Amino acid sequence: MTNYAIKPPPIVALPILGRNEIFPVRRVYCIGRNYAAHAIEMGHNPDREPPFFFQKNPNNLDPSGKFPYPSKSNDVHHEVEMAVMLKSGGINIKVSEALTHIFGYAISLDMTRRDLQGAQKKLGRPWEVGKAFERSAPVGPIHLVSKTGYLTKGLISLRVNDVLKQEGDLNQMIWKIPDIISYLSDHFELNGGDVILSGTPSGVGSINKGDTLVATIDGLGSLKVIVS
Ligand code: MN
Repeated sequence: MTNYAIKPPPIVALPILGRNEIFPVRRVYCIGRNYAAHAIEMGHNPDREPPFFFQKNPNNLDPSGKFPYPSKSNDVHHEVEMAVMLKSGGINIKVSEALTHIFGYAISLDMTRRDLQGAQKKLGRPWEVGKAFERSAPVGPIHLVSKTGYLTKGLISLRVNDVLKQEGDLNQMIWKIPDIISYLSDHFELNGGDVILSGTPSGVGSINKGDTLVATIDGLGSLKVIVS
């Protein structure tokens, strides 16, 4: 028996639609600027430059449907994204074989302390304070790929208090899911339990306490999150 010096942290795990099992999370990778219209609204060139990534922490994923407004920010933004859960991984995965590693999909929100992220960007510093804070990634239940098929197109949207704010199509991703898996696997060893947030369409904006966020992705239903 292993003697831990302190109590080990719990394994982060997410619900799976229609299953009693839960999905254990290993790492969370997030791609930046993966929809041209969002790159433009953030003041960047939408051309297909090499992708870039940042990470959130596994325990930033939160399936509770609640989002407490975080500390140290006056400008928290919503970013609706499709999350891709991997059942397996490896290194140097070919684009043509990347889809075979997918376990399922979920609706997620890459919540962002935009003011803090902006300050870090200006200074050329890392983004963790803007991106990887507590409960910064609300997430819905996982839909098995065996049920949904591979999701390559379909509406992705977000409403705040019933007002449409974000709308796009999964087919607008600059880097498609197989590209992302392959690229990541050239830089990191991917494994089952890894989660990829695949970028947000345009229309990101501020949220306030009391707001109701409803995100939808064709084939994945909707995710409702209350800001408190
Ligand atoms: Mn994002």
